[in-house]
Amino acid sequence: MTVGIKLTPNAAQSQALEKTLRLANEAANECSRIAWEHQIFGQFQLHQLAYKEIREKFGLSAQVAVRVIAKVADAYKLDKKSQRVFRFDGSIAFDDRILRYGEDHVSIWTTAGRQKIGFVTGEKQKKLLESRQGESDLVFRDGKWFLFATVNVIEPPTNDDPDGFLGVDLGIARIATDSDGQSFSGSQVRNLRKRHRRLRSNLQAKKTKSAKRRLRDRKRKEARYASDLNHQISKKIVEKAKHTNRAIVLEDLKGIRSRVRVQKARRAELGSWSFGQLRGYIEYKAKLAGVEVITIDPRNTSRECSLCGHIEKLNRRSQKSFQCRQCDHQSNADVNAARVIASRGAFNRPNAGASATRNLHL
Ligand SMILES: [Zn+2]
Repeated sequence: MTVGIKLTPNAAQSQALEKTLRLANEAANECSRIAWEHQIFGQFQLHQLAYKEIREKFGLSAQVAVRVIAKVADAYKLDKKSQRVFRFDGSIAFDDRILRYGEDHVSIWTTAGRQKIGFVTGEKQKKLLESRQGESDLVFRDGKWFLFATVNVIEPPTNDDPDGFLGVDLGIARIATDSDGQSFSGSQVRNLRKRHRRLRSNLQAKKTKSAKRRLRDRKRKEARYASDLNHQISKKIVEKAKHTNRAIVLEDLKGIRSRVRVQKARRAELGSWSFGQLRGYIEYKAKLAGVEVITIDPRNTSRECSLCGHIEKLNRRSQKSFQCRQCDHQSNADVNAARVIASRGAFNRPNAGASATRNLHL
């Protein structure tokens, strides 16, 4: 697991960090050129070939030079079909020799000498940092500086005797709806996507080099935005389950895909929204919180009445509304589906105990 730490450099330190990152990436590009010219891509051989040259030419510390060579060797592991080029602000790894963590600051090597730079973290992150291992990545993102550290996490035991079940319906109109009736709207995402799509088609039409670059930047930005939102949503869902001592119930992946197929028009609105990623985040955050996650067979979750269990296609009157043809139960369609999912969770547990079924929160 990685922990992100936001650095708070002053103006001069920020400049020093920028210069360092820029220089390291220039060195990586030079190293990549050497690797390509000699068709030598292994880290060890590349080190022998390029270490002295890039260290002298760019004035890097020994450790940074080593990391730069590792970065280049790593990049060629993917494929060796073309010469790798690195962005001027691509991340660089720092190990313990050139980066030390203090209570509220780090001491980090830069081209302008070692800098003592403050950082901000929450209590939880601070605790996680104690189990930090190996390298940290220095990352420049949206005008801010971060260190991403790898930490060891000891998972708490999963609570296998929940008081109830929180069903979560993943959808397009609303990204997630839970069986309590809370939903996480997709409208902000949809608006953003629309704007991105317009900009994207403008850029695609241009076909110039700078348009291509801006297109790539835009895609990265979108992916980052989606990932941020998935993090926020999964966090809220897991916290809620934890605080109410419930297990989380999700449809297995097949279900989401088949329903998304039905709603092709809406899928275009969202582009490639990653439900797989959202599920993954829910699962891993749940694991860290000791919350059980149950997956259920998704068949007919949108057609079944959460009150009486009657299944009929016509129960779902529209994208939004559900009305049972048997008992006349009316509900928002997503909320109804989330409740059906929650109730299936109770019966799908490996050791579905009587207590859990009895206490089903519906
Ligand atoms: Zn009914």
